Amino acid sequence: MVKTGIVRDERYLEHETGSYHVENPERLLHIYKALDDLQGFFVEVPPRQATQQEVTAVHDPGYVASIAATAGGPMRHLDPDTVVSPKSYEVALLAAGGLLAAIDAVMEGLDNASAFIRPPGHHAERNRAMGFCIFNNVAIGARYALSKYGLERVLIADWDLHHGNGTQRTFYSDPHVLYFSTHQYPYYPGTGHYTEIGEGEGRGFTVNVPLSAGQDDVDYANIFKHILRPIALAYRPQLILVSAGFDIYFQDPLGGMNVTERGFARLTDIVMDIAQTVCEGKFVITLEGGYNLQGLAGSVKEVVSVMAGRTTLDKGKWEEKEIKGFPRVQGIVNTTRRSLQDFWQWE
Ligand SMILES: [Zn+2]
Repeated sequence: MVKTGIVRDERYLEHETGSYHVENPERLLHIYKALDDLQGFFVEVPPRQATQQEVTAVHDPGYVASIAATAGGPMRHLDPDTVVSPKSYEVALLAAGGLLAAIDAVMEGLDNASAFIRPPGHHAERNRAMGFCIFNNVAIGARYALSKYGLERVLIADWDLHHGNGTQRTFYSDPHVLYFSTHQYPYYPGTGHYTEIGEGEGRGFTVNVPLSAGQDDVDYANIFKHILRPIALAYRPQLILVSAGFDIYFQDPLGGMNVTERGFARLTDIVMDIAQTVCEGKFVITLEGGYNLQGLAGSVKEVVSVMAGRTTLDKGKWEEKEIKGFPRVQGIVNTTRRSLQDFWQWE
């Protein structure tokens, strides 16, 4: 029996963003309610606040202090999209710390885990809040895993609709973290061209797959199988973190992608298979975007069902569809592979 952990906590609802913001507490309420249907198939992992030291391993101390100074104050904008309210600082620490708790749970015994937390993180840069993100949870998580467990290789796979500029920037010259991202392009935040492959010692350890709108379940599965998988098998990460954005859902109000609930199940299955091959199945999902509430709830349920070993996909049927659909992504696969040909070998 697979043991999967879940981080969820009512306190994540206390980061208020105003009545009209798409990144609002309703997102987690819908996810938490959907998880109730899976009660008994996962273990609750209690979150904690990330420490100053853990957060400043990624963020500038002055920036962290500037967010701390907003605690208890009025609601205000940090950038045109990113809002803080009286409890946001505390909740942002709890978001990063929630992922750290999930990582600990997996490093110390669970097979895999998910952190359903907010605010999201992958746009946050060293000294800047951006795109609904205050602290870069996944980057803090990767740094933490490297130092606490003495790891040398962590893979971050980011399937959010948007490019994780903050995550990329954090590890751009660092070969200890391989950052892989699929994202709509050109689109917010503007980064993530396939020629962005890292710098210095980190060259070859950033993998960008910019996509035009309209990619569906099979397209995503093929990109994960034909780009992420061979790189991951060669890199041999000791832990995989997933920036899981559900804004590639076909009815997401911000996105133009065509992924369904079942598509998220298949992507999870592919990542799980990679993790089982290279790192004893150890992977941790962290929530990024996703703004269609029903889609978010349904997709999370599919993802967790796969992680808990409750759903087995009809792999034969998927593979048949993927082989048939491969020509649609052949160009993308070739372009990405060519930009990284000095660093990775392809089958
Ligand atoms: Zn997003």
